Amino acid sequence: MVSCTLYFDKDKTYFLSAGGVWLEPDNILRPGCVLIKEGRVKEVGPGIQSPGSEVEFLDFSHLFLIPGLIDAHVHLALGQGMGLITKVEHVVNAGMAAVRDGGDRDGLVLKRRNQIENRIVLAAAGQALFRAGRYGAFLGRPLTGKKEMVESVESLVKAGVDQIKVLVSGPVGLNRYNQVGPPQFETQELADLVSCARDHGLEVMAHANGPEAVTRAVRAGVNSIEHGYFMGLDALDLIAENGVYWVPTIEPLAVLAESETEPPKRRALIKRVINNQIKQLTRARDLGIHLGLGTDAGSPGVEVDSGLRREMAWWRKAGFSGSEILSIATADNAKLIGREEDVGRLTPGHLAFIIGLPDHVSLDQAPFVRPEMIGFPQL
Ligand SMILES: [Zn+2]
Repeated sequence: MVSCTLYFDKDKTYFLSAGGVWLEPDNILRPGCVLIKEGRVKEVGPGIQSPGSEVEFLDFSHLFLIPGLIDAHVHLALGQGMGLITKVEHVVNAGMAAVRDGGDRDGLVLKRRNQIENRIVLAAAGQALFRAGRYGAFLGRPLTGKKEMVESVESLVKAGVDQIKVLVSGPVGLNRYNQVGPPQFETQELADLVSCARDHGLEVMAHANGPEAVTRAVRAGVNSIEHGYFMGLDALDLIAENGVYWVPTIEPLAVLAESETEPPKRRALIKRVINNQIKQLTRARDLGIHLGLGTDAGSPGVEVDSGLRREMAWWRKAGFSGSEILSIATADNAKLIGREEDVGRLTPGHLAFIIGLPDHVSLDQAPFVRPEMIGFPQL
C-alpha cells in the first residue's frame, strides 16, 4: 500500500515543496516546487515567490515527484474478479492518470464513462470493429460491408468515443512459433474506415499481428498498431516511415509464460514469442519509432494496477533506460491517447496526477519504484 494518498480539492490551492520534480522529458527541477490550483498545476520552479496565504503547504523534501502514469491499452470491462469501478480505484491507487480503453462487446466502459472520468482521464474506443465471423466478438461489433462500417462509426461517434478500434488480424498464435492468422480486412476497407473516422475527427487504433495485417493497417493510415507480434523488419520500417505509433503489449504473454497451468512445452514456446517481440522492440528503438506503453489489462491474468510496471520491466530487456520508459509512459502515451494537454507532464496547465518516489531513487529506477505518495485531482 502507498503510505500517503492526497486528493487535490478544486476549491483549494496547494504548494508542494519537493526534493525534485520530473516535469517532462529532459526537464527536471532539483529541488522543485509545484503550485496546484483548481486541480491543475499552476506554477512550477526551483522556488515559488509568495504563493499566497490561503495555501496548503506540503513538505515533500524527501520525495521526487513524477507525473501519473498512463496505460495506453486496457480493457476495463474485461477480466474477472472485480467490478469495473473497483478496477478504476485500483488504477488510481497505482498512480495512474489515464487509460486508453480498447473496447468491450457491450460498450460498458462508455456506459459508465461519467463514473470513470470522475477519477481518471479516459480515452475510449467503446466497441471494437471486427469482420463478422472472425476474431473479436468479445470486443465489439461485427462488420460485413462498407454501409455497416459507416453506420458503426457514426453510432460510436454519437455514443462519444475518443477513437475507433479495429481488429485487423486475430491474436498471435501460441501453438507454434510465428503463427499469425490472415488479415480480416483489405487495405482499401481499412482506408475507408480511417477516412470515415477522420471525418469525425477521430484516429484509428489497429489490433494487428503479422506482416500483412500490420502493412495493410499502416498503408491505410491508422494512428497506432497494437500488439504487432511477428510483424517483421519491413513492417517496422514502414511504421517508422509513416510516423505510426506501436504499442507492443508484452504483459499478456508474460503472464501466460509464468502460469503453472500452461504445459511446460507451451510456456517455452511463449517465451520464444516474447523474445521475438523484445527483439522487434529493440529494433523499433533504433528506428526511432513512436512507441506507446500498454498492458492489455483485462486479458487473462493481466492486472490493471501492477501490469504497467511489469510491462515497463520487459522494456528494460529491450534496451530502454528507465528515463526513456518514464517518458513513454507519461508524455508520449499522453500524446498517443490525444490528451497531452491534460496528462503526462507536470508543467503548468496539466492535471495534478502526481507520484512521489523516495528522493534518493535514480532516474533509471524511477518507473519501477513503489510510490510513497500518490496525489490526484478532483475532476
Ligand atoms: Zn486489447
